[in-house]
This record gives sequence, C-alpha cells and structure tokens, in this order.
Amino acid sequence: MPKAQETVLEIDLKALQDNFQHLKSKLEPHTKFLAVVKAFAYGSDASEVANFLQDLDVDYFAVAYINEGIALRNSGITKPILVLHPQTTNFELLIKHNLEPSLYNKKILVEFLSLISDKKSTDYPVHIKFNTGLNRLGFGQDDVKFIVDEINKNNTVNVKSIFSHLAASEDLNETSFSLNQIETFKKIATHFEHKIGYKPMLHMCNTSGVLNYPEAHFDMVRCGIGLYGFGNSEKENQFLKPIATLKTVISQIHHIEKGASVGYNRAFKSEKTVKTATLPIGHADGIGRPYGNGKGFVTIRGKQAPTIGNVCMDMIMVNITNIDCEEGDEVIVFGKAPSAETLASNVNTISYELITSISQRVKRTYLK
Ligand SMILES: *Cc1c(COP(=O)(O)O)cnc(C)c1O
Repeated sequence: MPKAQETVLEIDLKALQDNFQHLKSKLEPHTKFLAVVKAFAYGSDASEVANFLQDLDVDYFAVAYINEGIALRNSGITKPILVLHPQTTNFELLIKHNLEPSLYNKKILVEFLSLISDKKSTDYPVHIKFNTGLNRLGFGQDDVKFIVDEINKNNTVNVKSIFSHLAASEDLNETSFSLNQIETFKKIATHFEHKIGYKPMLHMCNTSGVLNYPEAHFDMVRCGIGLYGFGNSEKENQFLKPIATLKTVISQIHHIEKGASVGYNRAFKSEKTVKTATLPIGHADGIGRPYGNGKGFVTIRGKQAPTIGNVCMDMIMVNITNIDCEEGDEVIVFGKAPSAETLASNVNTISYELITSISQRVKRTYLK
C-alpha cells in the first residue's frame, strides 16, 4: 500500500468484490442483488464503486435522490437505477435519464402518472414503496386499491417491484417486530398481485436483513453497508472488510510546555510536557467536533494517539508523547483496523455516519 503524503481516502476494490461475493453467498441463486450507492457510495465514490460493481453481476442500483442517479448515468452506469426518495420537482430529469422512481404516497403517484401519460410512454418502470412499520416513507396496506386503480387508468407504467424496509433488521431483540413486518408485506404483495394481475418483484432486506432474515430475501435484496465492509455485528464483521481507509500525515510536531494550551478556545491546557502532532484533517473533512478532546484517536506507527483540544476546520492535534514519529509520517484515521465503527462508537455514533461524512475535499485513491 502506498504511504500517504496528504489526506486520502483509499478505496480497496478487491475488498469491495470480496464483500459482494460474501453477501451473494447468502442468497439463493435466483435472488437479485441491488447495490445501494447513495451518498457517494457511503462516502467512498459512487461512480468508481458502481462501475466496478456493474462489471460484477449486480442487477440493480439504488440512490436516494435524482441528482445522484444522473451522476451515475453520466459516469457510464447503464443498469437500472432505483431512486428511493425522489421529489416531484425533478421528475422531468428522472425520466430523461431513465431513472426508476420509488412512488411512496398518493401525491407523488398521481403527479408521476400525469406527467408520464403526457409523454405517451408505455411501461415506464416504477417501484411502489409500502410502509410496514418503519413509519418513514411508504403507502399503507389499505392503499392498494387506490394505487392499482390509478395505474390501470392508462398503460403508462409497469410496476417493476413493490418493496418495504425493515425498521430493526440488525436488532435481534426486535425479531418479532421484524417478522411481523415481513408478514404484513407478504399480505400486501398478495393483494397487490391479485389486483394488478401480474407479479412485480418483491424486496425488503437491507444488509442486516440479508444476514438475519433469509426467509425475507424474496426476489431481490438491497445492500449498502455490507458492501462497504460493515455487518452491524461483531460476528458478521469478521466476514467483511472495510473498503475505505482514511489516511493523513503529520504536518508539524510541537513540544508543549506545562501550562501552555493547544488549539481554539484553549480547550487543552497542559499539566505536564506533551508532544503533539498537527494533522491536515478537520471537521470540514468529516471528522466532527465530537471527536475532539480525547474522544477520537488516530494511529501512528501502530500506536493510538488521542486528539488534543478542539477539532478545527482543517486540522486536528493529537497526543504523540509516547510515539516515536516524525513530521511527514503516515497517520491512519480508520480502515481495516481500527475500523470506522470503532472510532464512531467512541462518540456514540455508527459507522454509517462517520464514513458518509468524509467530505468531497478528501482525495480518493484506489487499490485495484
Ligand atoms: C439505505 C437503504 C438501504 C441500504 O441499507 P444498508 O443497511 O446500508 O444495507 C436499503 N434500503 C433502503 C430503502 C435504504 O434507504
């Protein structure tokens, strides 16, 4: 691995491939795989990741918003792209780029149908989202008749799938709730298929759903975090590899005398002589203020160096009193070990938040 000479997010595409293969091995051969690449592929790089996965046998992609789907089309993605959370104002662009909307309430369904019938389109692919307990997005169980009646008014759309989302798929204390969601979804699906007269694909599982609820894989699964190397449990993490390693370097070393302070607001005041390293990474790069004042740490020459003082916009300072290191040395913020999950748990958050926060300012490099 090349040594970092500036702050970089190194993306290991071989690890991505291994994670994909591991998740695939949990599926029946006929079950389709949708790769969730929203939010810059969870903070990595949507175009690079999606193009790599497109060449493996991924069947579908999903993003949250229409502009994310357009970026994928512009970078050469030709496989179907489901837009999980479209807004009506961008529907023209969605259609222009052949993106497939999730239709999750009456307003968006009616507006989409009216726009698409003006276009004299037939069989435009759409996906209908049902709420089975997360209470975030989705039609209710009782809306099936309304949806099918609206769709049957003309032949402009083809319901490619109906889907729902588990609220607590990683939490085995909530198994009965999850099983109840799965049963509700099955009922909705049966009713929907009967009404519309054909069988759309069914899907419900995110990564933890894939791992914990094999009975709910249906026709397709939607994996995000697992592809990026996290399984939401110690057991599952053993089989997955974090694809992103955040590295930086030591810009400057200071010897701080007893009584001196470090950083803004003098948040750290030294009680004895300490040695600090200043690193070119701060809250504008995605290392938020909660990681300051010893809550976060980095790894230098295999040893942990906790933060000192407040996180600045472009820098952090870390305590290297007991580490034999020099200006220019490489620093690991997170990667395979310690993982983003370990670092995130220090400030009571989750891997998802830390990895998706790494800003676009940080250069991406690739291990192929
Ligand atoms: C983000 C998202 C996923 C992916 O979930 P992971 O836990 O990252 O696998 C799946 N489905 C929906 C609807 C999502 O919003």
